[in-house]
Amino acid sequence: MKLKLLAALMALGLGAGQHAAHAAVTQEMLDNAATDTKEVLTWGMGTEGQRYSPLKQVNTETVKRLVPAWTFSFGGEKQRGQESQPLIYNGKVFVTASYSRIFALDASTGQKLWKYEHRLPEGIMPCCDVVNRGAALFDNLVIFATLDAQLVALNQDTGDVVWKEKIDDYHAGYSATAAPIIADGLLLTGVSGGEFGVVGRVEARDPKTGRLVWMRPTVEGHMGYTYDKDGKATENGISGTTNQSWPGDLWKTGGAATWLGGTYDKRTGLAYFGAGNPAPWNSHLRKGDNLFSSSTVAIDVKTGKIKWHYQNTPNDSWDFDGVNEFITFDMDGKRVGGKADRNGYFYVNDASTGKLLNAFPFVRKTTWANGIDLKTGRPNFVPENRPGDPTEGADGKKGSAVFAAPGFLGGKNQMPMAYSPDTKMFYVPSNEWGMEIWNEPIAYKKGAAYLGAGFTIKPLNEDYIGALRAVDPKNGKIVWEVKNNAPLWGGVMTTAGNLVFWGTPEGYLKAADAKTGKVVWQFQTGSGVVAPPVTWQQDGQQYVGVVSGWGGAVPLWGGDVAKRVNFLEQGGSMWVFKLADIK
Ligand code: CA
Repeated sequence: MKLKLLAALMALGLGAGQHAAHAAVTQEMLDNAATDTKEVLTWGMGTEGQRYSPLKQVNTETVKRLVPAWTFSFGGEKQRGQESQPLIYNGKVFVTASYSRIFALDASTGQKLWKYEHRLPEGIMPCCDVVNRGAALFDNLVIFATLDAQLVALNQDTGDVVWKEKIDDYHAGYSATAAPIIADGLLLTGVSGGEFGVVGRVEARDPKTGRLVWMRPTVEGHMGYTYDKDGKATENGISGTTNQSWPGDLWKTGGAATWLGGTYDKRTGLAYFGAGNPAPWNSHLRKGDNLFSSSTVAIDVKTGKIKWHYQNTPNDSWDFDGVNEFITFDMDGKRVGGKADRNGYFYVNDASTGKLLNAFPFVRKTTWANGIDLKTGRPNFVPENRPGDPTEGADGKKGSAVFAAPGFLGGKNQMPMAYSPDTKMFYVPSNEWGMEIWNEPIAYKKGAAYLGAGFTIKPLNEDYIGALRAVDPKNGKIVWEVKNNAPLWGGVMTTAGNLVFWGTPEGYLKAADAKTGKVVWQFQTGSGVVAPPVTWQQDGQQYVGVVSGWGGAVPLWGGDVAKRVNFLEQGGSMWVFKLADIK
């Protein structure tokens, strides 16, 4: 059957026949993915993560003629959050779905070529819905991570499993939801599980075999390792200094999960991973900065060592997490990186040294700090707005509650922003919300939630929570915004057609003029969009694709906001659009 299908596709001039059958995806192709308009080879539409396409067939003039080309349902009874960014290569779409599924589709018709459904055990512990954010391509493989903390590599043409490796023990709270990235010929992955006291780390593997090459912990005090061909481990230096920023034994279950994956810039040779919240949430138990939690960590891919780190929220007490993507770009003749942190501040750091160059709020309300000191790189904390120590409470069971903004779901969460080298602006899917939060006593227990905090997320405004914002990284100005009633949870893409695309939980894929923010197109996809759009050109036609399916952390953790948006329906499909009159 498979041979027949392949023959049929080749006869039609599609798929394998079109692009020199089975041309292997190489590092060189991935290094140039940002300017490759024929395919989408990596998460971030380029390893740097800018999510910018030079395509302009679809532009502010023509976008009104953008109509559906095809749609594909993920089927089954498995819906929930669909946060996946599709990849496009060799006439095929590779798209992951909820519950650790992946599909290969014909990119011009949407016809299913194969699917792989990972067999998930009972007892997995994903904190924030059964999502997956995408795959990686290398050689003839498509590789993705699963909710039971495994990596699976499949043959791009057949969907057959080529290798499968366990990252860690799901019974201890480990899971994996991020798209892996390929950097300098290595497959780089992180771990999820910061709410269960896992130990965050970045691992490098041989993408063709799954063999471990190095491992770098993102909690200060833990040893890094390199591995030889037989799997023998050699110590490769401790991350930081044991007990320097962590008291007692808490670093042993310190969190700092690298759950959103990373970006890579071949010009610096560095991979940039966000490291999440320190565990537990109750900050009074862990006096100190708690490196490398709530930080960007830049890792030299060749050595597996931390070249620099920048901590957005020292001694994080709000689950501000710090995992958000670090996107490299050029500013004032320098290679720098931008990050819109969950804590509500946008940071610009030197991409080679980590030196803080600029920091400004991109949301309207931040209670926890009055700005970031550009000299020291540290936040100016507002001490009275830190949730209180339960041991100082009347009964020792609950510390004083505070109202904090942003809430822990963040000024921006997992949904990736985009950067346009044309307008020199970032397009940030942001949210305005806060939370009541208090601390409670807690002790680590394997596989149990390790928070030591209670909370309720609350909206700040009656008329909107979400706002897509055009942000100037040089002066910190919000140039324009498009408000949205529900919290934004999908990623953003921008194009040389002077367009910005993003999705809404209300089900719309929207496009706005990148310079002015005027909404010029929208389409109702039938369920909430919580995934980033992509675009590519095939046979002279520009396509725009996005996954639709409401879910993610908001319905599960969103408190009063979850109640406000509980009318939204789940789904699971991919939509692809093209201009109506291009033949
Ligand atoms: Ca967290």
